[in-house]
Amino acid sequence: MLPLFFLSFFLPSLSLPQRCGILFLLPIDKQRKLHDSPFLLCPVLFLLSLLLYIFDHLIFYFILARPGEVESGTRRKLKRLLSFQRYCHASRLLRGLMPHTPGSLHLLDDDYLGQAAHMLSKVDTWTFDIFLFDRLTNGNSLVTLMCHLFNACGLIHHFQLDMVKLHRFLGMVQEDYHSHNPYHNSVHAADVTQAMYCYLKETKLAEQLTPLDVLLGLMAAAAHDVDHPGVNQPFLIKTRHHLASLYQNTSVLESHHWRSTVGMLRESGLLSHLPADVSFTPEKDELLIKTSFTHQTTYRATLKIALKCADVCNPCREWELSKQWSERVCEEFYRQGDLERKFNLEISPLCDQQMDSVPSIQIGFISYIVEPLFEEWQRFTEPSMLSRIMMGHLHKNKARWSRLRYEPTTAETENYPHAEEPEPEPEPEGEHDGAEDIP
Ligand SMILES: [Zn+2]
Repeated sequence: MLPLFFLSFFLPSLSLPQRCGILFLLPIDKQRKLHDSPFLLCPVLFLLSLLLYIFDHLIFYFILARPGEVESGTRRKLKRLLSFQRYCHASRLLRGLMPHTPGSLHLLDDDYLGQAAHMLSKVDTWTFDIFLFDRLTNGNSLVTLMCHLFNACGLIHHFQLDMVKLHRFLGMVQEDYHSHNPYHNSVHAADVTQAMYCYLKETKLAEQLTPLDVLLGLMAAAAHDVDHPGVNQPFLIKTRHHLASLYQNTSVLESHHWRSTVGMLRESGLLSHLPADVSFTPEKDELLIKTSFTHQTTYRATLKIALKCADVCNPCREWELSKQWSERVCEEFYRQGDLERKFNLEISPLCDQQMDSVPSIQIGFISYIVEPLFEEWQRFTEPSMLSRIMMGHLHKNKARWSRLRYEPTTAETENYPHAEEPEPEPEPEGEHDGAEDIP
């Protein structure tokens, strides 16, 4: 009982009555009843609740809210622990039970994450705002999204995944993204994962995919840029970065993302829950796992293309989201350019803030990479409402960047005050009939 008493101090997402339930070793159904009823059941419970509440806040004040007095790594780990409880309901971890209602994991707590839970109910819509979702989940968008999608796709049940191991793996992945990168951070990974989920639901793909394909597709999306240093391969090579040496200057970043992911799968113990005939390939840039299911080879290749599309789909989002991503990726390029200038290195293409404007970078990116790729993707997925919507956004965004390109003074400001909507273009059929909710 005593260890549980102390353990309950570190479970800030528990309601006060639930803590008392733990304290008295009540069965979980009784704890739930306590949770649903007014918690002032008796003076003893009330006093204990009050003590625990005060103790929680003392911990927060003395350890987390006083930077400089505690070693930063320790503070970060404690913060992660407390934050962890915000998206993973502690009582469920304690009892180790799966939820009773299929299709709902209830990982998001009732109070402060209600809005995020509401957003997840529309996770298959192309208008999903990942920036807002990240704020609502306290920077845990990747873990929260992945848990929800794994449950929604029935993967937890199908592979009998251990929730603790799954959380451990996802936590490692999210933590290994560099939060100070303007673009290659965990929000980008979550955005790519959400797009990948939409693509996996495309009729042409969905009817052929096995649960393992879906699992691999989502995992690959979540981990595809893990531990990205925020600079490109040429920069790593010319600065003799340890990653370049480690991978012998060949496919440095791709190899590192891939091997890091395999390492985390092993370290978390999640690997043991995957089918026995799944084997890892040492090949670089492989979609995570090669299996003996040879008849799935074609669809594995399609999954790789889907992941590529998800990775570069920013210009296919609606303008407000697309613009934020464009500014972020250019900010990351410019930071690299500034570093190169500082160390008298040749400035890489697209990384010179004085020469390469955001609109010109975006127009080149759309014209040479995104447009050709998504034209093919549309051909493959036809008839697909999502592809038509994405192409509609893509053309509109390109037109808008073209206007901004010749307004250099306004293009460099935050709000683009003189930017105007491009000439109205024909909308994809049904776009205004709630069709944007259709992936
Ligand atoms: Zn990426």
